[in-house]
Amino acid sequence: MPELPEVQTVVDTLQQLVVGKQITSIALYYERLLESTSQKELETLTGQTIQEISRRGKYLIFQCSADCFIAHLRMEGKFIYYPSNHRPAIHTHAVFGFSDGSELHFNDTRKFGRIGVYSSSALYFEAKGLGIEPFSPDFSGEELFQRFARYHKPIKTTLLDQHCIAGIGNIYADEVLFDCRIHPLTPANQLSRQQCHELAASIVAILSRAIERGGTTIRSFESSHHVNGLFQIELNAYGRAGLACHRCQHKLERMKISGRYATYCPHCQKRRD
Ligand SMILES: [Zn+2]
Repeated sequence: MPELPEVQTVVDTLQQLVVGKQITSIALYYERLLESTSQKELETLTGQTIQEISRRGKYLIFQCSADCFIAHLRMEGKFIYYPSNHRPAIHTHAVFGFSDGSELHFNDTRKFGRIGVYSSSALYFEAKGLGIEPFSPDFSGEELFQRFARYHKPIKTTLLDQHCIAGIGNIYADEVLFDCRIHPLTPANQLSRQQCHELAASIVAILSRAIERGGTTIRSFESSHHVNGLFQIELNAYGRAGLACHRCQHKLERMKISGRYATYCPHCQKRRD
């Protein structure tokens, strides 16, 4: 599942490809792609120009002349840009055609991705109760400390809760907890102020680094215009269960917490209670 850095990379790439283009046709091949939006509402985008593409959490926001459409890639959703007319694939769920003949396809083999049309993205996210954005000016250790006071669940589960912080998934949750030497089962409200400061700094640093890496990976993909934002980054915890810790050489362990796996170093990330 793409997380914040991958979605940001998709946003940065699409910005160069489709901003300023006028939508002249929309073909929908899978009706359930639409989230609380009718086909008729989707068609209102025809004639509108894409003015800006941005990100909130793991959502992509396409601001058009009058309305916006918001996309969530979920597991395997991808936008693919074609400079000219291109036949839809089996898993192409929607095709946006532009006045210059280019096309933006939304493909999704798993069919979990969603698109919706809204008059205001701010209202949409307010209604969703989406959590704080890691790159917003309000994001800080103190802010996390205040927020976590309401979360009795393990920190690993809390980091994945999009109502608390937006954009972090399994990969980066494991990575930041490893970086801060915090045991994934530690209840969020038991983290000290100092730990929250370290966590906030680590979240910003690790996500920034991943966005930088993503940028370089995506550039090498640009010739094919396949935009999915998934790329290999150097990982210390995620996917490394049974392997030696990069810090202390102990074997990393994996445990299931609220249905999701957490990989951590039992030596570096000791529980403090
Ligand atoms: Zn270790």
